[in-house]
Amino acid sequence: MNKTTRKKTTKKTTRPAAAKPAVTAGAPAKVRVATMWLSGCSGCHMSFLDLDERLVELVKLIDILFSPIVDTKVKDMPQVDVGIVEGCVNNTDQEHELRMLRDRCKILIALGDCACTGNIPALRNQFPLKDCLARAYEQAESNRISCIPNDPVVPKLYPKARPLQEVVKVDLHIPGCPPDADVIWYALTELLAGRTPQWNEKNLRYD
Ligand code: SF4
Repeated sequence: MNKTTRKKTTKKTTRPAAAKPAVTAGAPAKVRVATMWLSGCSGCHMSFLDLDERLVELVKLIDILFSPIVDTKVKDMPQVDVGIVEGCVNNTDQEHELRMLRDRCKILIALGDCACTGNIPALRNQFPLKDCLARAYEQAESNRISCIPNDPVVPKLYPKARPLQEVVKVDLHIPGCPPDADVIWYALTELLAGRTPQWNEKNLRYD
């Protein structure tokens, strides 16, 4: 396409317009955010990245201090205003990480169906843990090691995968597998405007 004919495209959406967060000179410090990825496929974080050019607007208002999608230089989870968690709780390490984030944030958001309900990782809940381990490590056609890991360094798998609210208090659920970028944008901009996002058949329609 010729430079002179290239036009800026605007992403069309049928969803209600999100509130435009106000950015003013001398505005208060940015909202401090941490995100975490537990038992999930990374799709929810990828959907967050699908905010695309809206990320530029967002970083005027928030600092992402700790996240699998930023090149963080801090080893320990800092105190933050908002914690955003993808995935459910499947093992001892994940419960520890989640409890730590809960202690260090003011608002905890469950991002996506795995965090909200257990979703796909929780499909194993209908089988005994020993059967799941045997299937994955001993019987799977692709597994030639045929040995269930038992090194103490490996986090201990719980008998059931659990959604976040069965482990800690959750302040906001953002459903979807994954929630699409418009839904994430709506939720974050509502929070930044001091409002609680309201879910309805319009902003949670998947088509
Ligand atoms: Fe992946 Fe869907 Fe779970 Fe998000 S909710 S982590 S997209 S499986």
